[in-house]
Amino acid sequence: MLPCARRLDEAIDLDYPGAASMKAESISIGTEILLGEILDTNAQYIASRLPALGIDLYWMTQVGDNLDRLSEAIRRAWDRSDLILTTGGLGPTEDDLTREAIAAALDEPLSVDGKMEAQLRAFFSSRGLVMPERNVKQAALIPSARPIANPRGTAPGWWVKRDGRILVAMPGPPVEMERMWEEEVAPRLAKLATGGVIVSRTLKTMGIGEGSVDEMVGPLLRSTNPSVAVYAKADGVHLRITAKAASREEAQRLIAPMEEEARGILGKTIWGADDETLEAAVGAMLRERGLSVATMESCTGGLLASTITDAAGSSSYFKGGFVAYTGEMKIALGVDEELVRRHGVVSQEVARDMARAVRERLGADFGIGITGVAGPEPLEDKPVGTIHIALDDPDTSGQAISYTFAQSRAAIKRRAVTTALFLLRRALLGR
Ligand code: AMP
Ligand code: MG
Repeated sequence: MLPCARRLDEAIDLDYPGAASMKAESISIGTEILLGEILDTNAQYIASRLPALGIDLYWMTQVGDNLDRLSEAIRRAWDRSDLILTTGGLGPTEDDLTREAIAAALDEPLSVDGKMEAQLRAFFSSRGLVMPERNVKQAALIPSARPIANPRGTAPGWWVKRDGRILVAMPGPPVEMERMWEEEVAPRLAKLATGGVIVSRTLKTMGIGEGSVDEMVGPLLRSTNPSVAVYAKADGVHLRITAKAASREEAQRLIAPMEEEARGILGKTIWGADDETLEAAVGAMLRERGLSVATMESCTGGLLASTITDAAGSSSYFKGGFVAYTGEMKIALGVDEELVRRHGVVSQEVARDMARAVRERLGADFGIGITGVAGPEPLEDKPVGTIHIALDDPDTSGQAISYTFAQSRAAIKRRAVTTALFLLRRALLGR
């Protein structure tokens, strides 16, 4: 019987020898990943968090729920990496083999820890349940492992330290893994890794193409620390400024003057930064000005209303929206029948009238109308990807954008929503 698990922090040697340049490897465990049934978002999550800790990710491995292959993957990682981060395979079922594989790879005995077992049983009884015996294995440890708390699930993680290496095993479900990472793993790794940090700042623009942004910020692109790069994304063109320094504060000091310069060049085309979304940015503008919006959508089928309401607090400016998919429904909701007959449902004239009708009907400051052909079949004489988006407000004659974007149905809808929000933002800037 092993001694009861010591507290995790006692197990961490803070003057870890490989600290200056920690080489990391992620291992995503689960046959579901190899069958293409789930996307390996855990690996992406981990990869996106390591630069800020100054840890270099050298390999990303994916392996199925097979004891031999899994222990082989762990053995290989142990040989070539200082830090190994696994996700998945900590569940109670027979195919969850991560603990067994680590024990086999490190040649250590696996045994149930009494205190952990008691905690696990308490977790179940607090929910009025009897613990299935299969779950007992979630209380198992090897001598080199310490448990990591997982308040969102039954499987504790493992922090394994031996031979100057660290292996951290985290659960597969992203909500459990991400909490464990944020609260337990990242803070400890931050103390170990002193090889400098990489910090990025992303400025998000809209209304100018990738090439134009590249040209405008041309001189900045030659800088090496911070470095500057331009990326075309679904919500516009992003400018990413990345600095490497000994500390986060120092990296931010390098970024600040570059950001100021970029903002001077790109001005109002910048709508947000970092994790900010267009719907949240536009929503904040509406709220500040005390204005409201209402929507009537055809080809986007409610995606615009759904996206607007992705921003918390949207009830203070979003009146509501209609999904008016057929011509009759548009007319029933107040669109001029004569316009529909004359120009067809997919026309800028109808989009403008949809915007007017919904604005008037719901008493909003702005109305947005979207009509188009999401495909894959063309509609009447209108090709796939034809989109008309209009914005109506009581003070001006409104605005409209028409374009063709021949892509997948999902991409056509997504782009239309982004463009509608862009149109609204442009009108708000003028106020
Ligand atoms: P597991 O503990 O390996 O049985 O995984 C439990 C669940 O977590 C899976 O069914 C997936 O829904 C999710 N999951 C596991 N691994 C990953 C991963 N690499 N990326 C995203 N989700 C995952
Ligand atoms: Mg599994």
